[in-house]
Amino acid sequence: MSRPFKCRRICCDPKSDYFKPRGIPVTRLEEINLTMDELETIRLADLEGIYQESAASKMNISRQTFGNIVNSAHKKIADALLNGKALKIKGGVYAMAEMRKFKCYVCNNTWEVPYGTGRPKECTQCKSTNIHRAAEDRGYARRGGAGYGRRRCGRLSV
Ligand SMILES: [Zn+2]
Repeated sequence: MSRPFKCRRICCDPKSDYFKPRGIPVTRLEEINLTMDELETIRLADLEGIYQESAASKMNISRQTFGNIVNSAHKKIADALLNGKALKIKGGVYAMAEMRKFKCYVCNNTWEVPYGTGRPKECTQCKSTNIHRAAEDRGYARRGGAGYGRRRCGRLSV
């Protein structure tokens, strides 16, 4: 009996999704697959230095699950760095956080906030409260991207 599956929420796409050691032909490289949810734990825990407890809640998972994922990610990265393997970032179980777009009537500034964080009170730029939901945001589906599993929650093949 498997437990009900929880969707892991992530926020960002990596700037690059493949890293390889210099001077080793691809055919002789061993490749390690780092998943998107593993990368997200690295981003939250290591790059932003957020405590595991709140990082876990950002990803909609338990602290223990977060710990397991971040451990697995560290191990893979260490393996790649020390044993000269390539890192491919792809797949995993995750959903992109949905974003809402807002626009300021005063300075025309537009910005995005993730769902579930509440409506912003003021413009991020000029602090005006004369803000509204951006028109193009209504019924607007966030762009798909690399073609794998975004916004769909479930176990994705790599
Ligand atoms: Zn403004």
